[in-house]
Amino acid sequence: MVKLNFNAKKKISLKTTVLSIFFLITIIMGIIFIIQILYFAKKLSYESINIKLEGLSSDINRSIKSMDKINENIILLLNNISEPSLKLYKDILENNSNLYAVYSGFKNNGFYELINLDIHNTLRDLYNAKVTDKWLFIRIDSKDSALKKIVLLNKDLEETKSYFEKTDYKSNTRPWYKKALVSNNIIKTDPYKFSNIPSKGITYAKRVAKSSTVVGIDVLIYDIRKLFEKHIKNSYSNAFLLDKNMNIISSLKKSEKLEKFLSEIENKESLFKPTTVNIDGIKYVVQINTVNKNEYLAFFSQYEQLISFYKKQTYEIMIIFLLSILFLIPLVIYSSRIIVKPIDILTKQSRKVEKREFKDIKIVETSVLEVAELSNSMYEMSQAIHSYQHSLEKKVIERTKQLKKKNEELLKLSITDKLTSLYNRVKIDKVLKEQYELAKRYNTPFSLILMDIDFFKKVNDNYGHKIGDDVLIETSKVLKKTIRKTDILGRWGGEEFMVITPHTTQDGAVSLAKELNKAVANHQYSTYEKRVTISLGVCSFEEKFDIDKMTIKADEALYRAKENGRNRVEVYS
Ligand code: GH3
Ligand code: MG
Ligand code: MG
Repeated sequence: MVKLNFNAKKKISLKTTVLSIFFLITIIMGIIFIIQILYFAKKLSYESINIKLEGLSSDINRSIKSMDKINENIILLLNNISEPSLKLYKDILENNSNLYAVYSGFKNNGFYELINLDIHNTLRDLYNAKVTDKWLFIRIDSKDSALKKIVLLNKDLEETKSYFEKTDYKSNTRPWYKKALVSNNIIKTDPYKFSNIPSKGITYAKRVAKSSTVVGIDVLIYDIRKLFEKHIKNSYSNAFLLDKNMNIISSLKKSEKLEKFLSEIENKESLFKPTTVNIDGIKYVVQINTVNKNEYLAFFSQYEQLISFYKKQTYEIMIIFLLSILFLIPLVIYSSRIIVKPIDILTKQSRKVEKREFKDIKIVETSVLEVAELSNSMYEMSQAIHSYQHSLEKKVIERTKQLKKKNEELLKLSITDKLTSLYNRVKIDKVLKEQYELAKRYNTPFSLILMDIDFFKKVNDNYGHKIGDDVLIETSKVLKKTIRKTDILGRWGGEEFMVITPHTTQDGAVSLAKELNKAVANHQYSTYEKRVTISLGVCSFEEKFDIDKMTIKADEALYRAKENGRNRVEVYS
């Protein structure tokens, strides 16, 4: 039988294989998570800053542009009015909450201005205004520009208080007046610090065509905190709107250290991409973005907190992954078991097929279709082998029986003379040898009698071969009948016979020979009318003889019986 070399390659169980794959996936996922935490979290947070800044910048830009438009429209409106009107100035101020003042400058330092007292509390203190006072009107007459009239007005423009005071304010020397006077367009200043309130602002101004009159408005700096708040919702980020000289125009939250950092920047271009900087021991990601040609946006975010948002996300995914692994492992073990267990049983059953224990082979109970099919086919295969083997065994037994019979027949045939059914020469030789050996070892007597039919040639010659054969056969029967059961009779050759007589002395053998002689002589043959006689030579065992010598001696005795007239017994001498 061919034995497969099962150990040639190391075998791994299904369970181990599946668990190893799981382990590998976990390691790979772990590596991915580590990369995510160490690299992608940073990359993503930087990208998020970029996106946020782009959105914020374009929102701010749009808002600045629309405010510019509004302010320019106000200037154009004022430009079309020939005489300044308190009512108009009031309407304009009321409708634009970030407008601080509306004014006109005339030649010879004439000045006409309406200020919204609600813009800042300090204004009311400065002018001793009551809470009910809403407007401050300032008037400098070009005829007496050293004197300034101050009027406090309530919300309906009714005068509550007025007084004159000396002034050295010369409108014609102010930058807005001088610049507007030489320009045909609306002029706009850079943000600057207003004098009476702690706010920054911008002045828009324009000369009324073909005159020395200039109309102007003071606008509080863009209040873009709302935009900041809309875009930046976390507590660890801050944003600043900067002018082109990196002066702060507006911010989400006040922060001295960040303002100091901004004021010390030498090369703002280096911060146009997200950069990690250390400010007073805290790590920040900083990025500056261009809003338009006049404004920039600076964004700060505390690094650890920024990253932690993405790290947290990774940890959450990691926990979900680990939980699903934990949930899947028992499932995998279970499912591998429902495959492995029946396979185990099938393996044991295949061993039983090997050991021919067919009765122990059963169909395996399983819910797995493939395993069930395997089990069924294995069962059918074992049954087929079983029945085949059974029929084979039956055949073998039958054939063995036949063979044994044939062998027995063959054996009998090999030691039997065909014509007479007596032992043949082969068997006689064998018995002779055995008896000789026994006699020699135990010193027991044994004898042999050699016989020859007298004038047998004549039978053949006168009656034919067939009759000759009949005589041979009948003679055999007579001889057989006459000897003892323990004697062995065989055909020595032709018409010669031999009897081996164990435990028989010479006297015993001679008397048997005589009996045989008599029996043949007295026998009436069935197909041969005449009487037949035989001559016999007797030889008994003696120490000095070998086997050949014994047969020679018996032959000599037989020869003498023939010499002495046939139909008689002679003993070797
Ligand atoms: P003797 O008395 O001297 O023995 O004379 P005999 O004629 O018997 O002796 P011989 O040896 O001359 O003849 C033996 C004959 O036996 C010769 C042979 O043809 C015949 N014979 C031998 N075997 C058979 C046999 O199987 N069948 C037949 N029919 N004849 C046989
Ligand atoms: Mg003869
Ligand atoms: Mg003869």
